[in-house]
Amino acid sequence: MEKIAVFPGSFDPFTIGHESIVRRGLQIFDKIIVAIGANTEKAEYFPLKTRVKWIKKVFENEPRIEVATYSSLTVDFCKKVNARFLLRGLRTAADFEYERAIAQVNHAMEKDIEVVFLLTLPEHTFINSTLVREIIKYGGDASKFLPAALHLNKADRKD
Ligand code: ADP
Repeated sequence: MEKIAVFPGSFDPFTIGHESIVRRGLQIFDKIIVAIGANTEKAEYFPLKTRVKWIKKVFENEPRIEVATYSSLTVDFCKKVNARFLLRGLRTAADFEYERAIAQVNHAMEKDIEVVFLLTLPEHTFINSTLVREIIKYGGDASKFLPAALHLNKADRKD
């Protein structure tokens, strides 16, 4: 059976930390669906359509990666796309505590879905979307934290 994983998140914006988790995940899974949750508590900064466009661009040469949006429970989205795995990245102990609760709730709701964690590369530990967003917001150069395929130009910024 094809091993399909969903990599859910807000990706506001998608960073090299996210990119690395997805590329490493390709060694484990046949297909990965990067899924942007559209109904989270978090207020969005970059529009959903823009985030989809950026992630598609990052993986445009990788046929085993798809990009989708969803506004249901993550486990329900997994069932809809026949994914038996949820992929998440872990940076710190704080991430672990947060992720543990979500993973255990998800597993309690849907026994057939396993959550798989990949530890971040040491050099990506401090990278998070909030900081990258702040750099962009205040006109700084965030390119070293963004996937090579993404060159944010002025038009994409929200000043
Ligand atoms: P969420 O809103 O679900 O926290 P994020 O977009 O912040 O969404 O993150 C999505 C996933 O990517 C989470 O599992 C998160 O831990 C992971 N992640 C975020 N930044 C990094 C990074 N720098 N290295 C590895 N994993 C990361």
